[in-house]
Amino acid sequence: MLYINGSWRDSSNGGKHEIRSPHDGALIASVPQASIDDVNDAIAAARASFDSGVFSSWSWSKRSALVSTIADLLERDAAIIAKKESDDTGKRIIEAEYDVADVVATFRHFAKLGLKEQDHTVDVGLANVTSQIVHEPIGVCSLIGPWNYPLLQIAWKVAPALVAGCSFILKPSELTPQSAIHLIKLIEEAGAPAGVANLILGPGSVVGNALTTDPRVDLVSFTGGLTTGKTIMVGAAATVKKLALELGGKNPHIIFADADIDAAIDNAVTGAFLHSGQVCSAGTRLIVERSIHDRVVKEIVRRAGQIRMGGPSDLSAETGPLISESHLKGVESYVAAGVAEGAKLLVGGKRSQLPEHARGWYFLPTVFDECNTSMHCVQEESFGPVMTVEIFDTEAQAIAIGNDTIFGLSGGLWTGDSLKAARVASALRHGTVWVNDYGPYRPQAEWGGYKQSGIGRELGSHGLGEYLEIKHIWTNNSPSKSGWFHDFAEGERQ
Ligand code: NAP
Repeated sequence: MLYINGSWRDSSNGGKHEIRSPHDGALIASVPQASIDDVNDAIAAARASFDSGVFSSWSWSKRSALVSTIADLLERDAAIIAKKESDDTGKRIIEAEYDVADVVATFRHFAKLGLKEQDHTVDVGLANVTSQIVHEPIGVCSLIGPWNYPLLQIAWKVAPALVAGCSFILKPSELTPQSAIHLIKLIEEAGAPAGVANLILGPGSVVGNALTTDPRVDLVSFTGGLTTGKTIMVGAAATVKKLALELGGKNPHIIFADADIDAAIDNAVTGAFLHSGQVCSAGTRLIVERSIHDRVVKEIVRRAGQIRMGGPSDLSAETGPLISESHLKGVESYVAAGVAEGAKLLVGGKRSQLPEHARGWYFLPTVFDECNTSMHCVQEESFGPVMTVEIFDTEAQAIAIGNDTIFGLSGGLWTGDSLKAARVASALRHGTVWVNDYGPYRPQAEWGGYKQSGIGRELGSHGLGEYLEIKHIWTNNSPSKSGWFHDFAEGERQ
């Protein structure tokens, strides 16, 4: 169902969309597909609720309490939500459970942040002036999410938007809408006023376009692919909307010869093949020092070849299917292009041949050796389980290769030398750098991309800042004339 101005409803033109399991193609749910009229209604509801002050005038502590209640409700319904998320994405239930725990932590983080004083005064050097810096909600926000971590990516937007006092229209990926529908139910249950939270379902090319070009929208916060991000920037330019963009990544994972090699190998496997590589920060570019190349690659290939794949209820599975047939075909052509341009295929490179995977979108963990930065498979995001391997000889080379990308989302490095670790971490132009680790994040720390991986930051305190306007209020406590222009008496100036 769609949720507009505090009511659940079907699409005004009767549009429907089927959600099918990436594991076996089974029908999971049928949801409405909003019309442009529905989008207009949702934007109007958000605009009216924001302009009325029905929510934006709540105190910070009252809004924080609402977000805290939503966290409690998410915790109460964690098992139900994890099941929906697992069904939609095809990921194992245990992974979906981790994701829901992260969603709860996100809401708790922003609820706590909302209790911290945001405003302050500045000393402008005048005894008669009070100069206040105040933070106000940015207004009406279009929040658009991807399918890989559907509820988590949405939580990074919804929680700060609510704490800030914004009204919003949420559009999850068409492929994975069920957890977003449940979240909106919980926001309603927690007591958000009508019109503050609105839910639109439908294809990005239609409803997403309307949500990102409408003049009544103040901010677009988007997580998804680079191409879509560029389209959104163009559409938002006409009304100079604020933009928060979390886009793709092609993330370097550097292993120096002086590292804990066993730990590095294990993390390289996890970094590249977790969730079958459908992770924006996946460490798909392995950059390894020449002297350890053979040992590292041999072991990674061995490990990649034994990864167990399976659907949501397969307890022995370690990773699952790709999200859709069209995505699987995209990964297949990416691999074919890699072979054509000379990358050496060591393992995988094709669909799983197991009979139990025949009706789903399973692609085997894949490793390409003998790669270099000029190759498309090294430069472009496959968003699948495909690792490329490059070799370096010096620290400077490792840094240069790690930075040779249009993206800048994240990267990792392994070394036993703490001074080298500090130098390389500082030189890498990526929003998150892991040293002797790969992948963890926490809501307390900012997340976002350098270069074409995005604009702005989510999480941390900056993740709330995206939803705030900053106003400077200058108050002269002893008013006087400015005295800039001479005040001639009538007839004095000829
Ligand atoms: P996508 O195809 O760009 O879609 C993302 C969202 O945008 C979906 O809800 C989509 O709608 C919508 N959309 C599509 N066209 C649109 C348009 N013209 N205007 C407005 N919205 C539009 O990305 P995806 O395939 O879902 O997600 C994978 C990408 O997300 C990868 O590149 C990954 O790196 C990136 N990602 C980045 C982060 C990060 O933190 N930086 C996190 C997760 C994912 P429909 O699909 O429903 O049509």
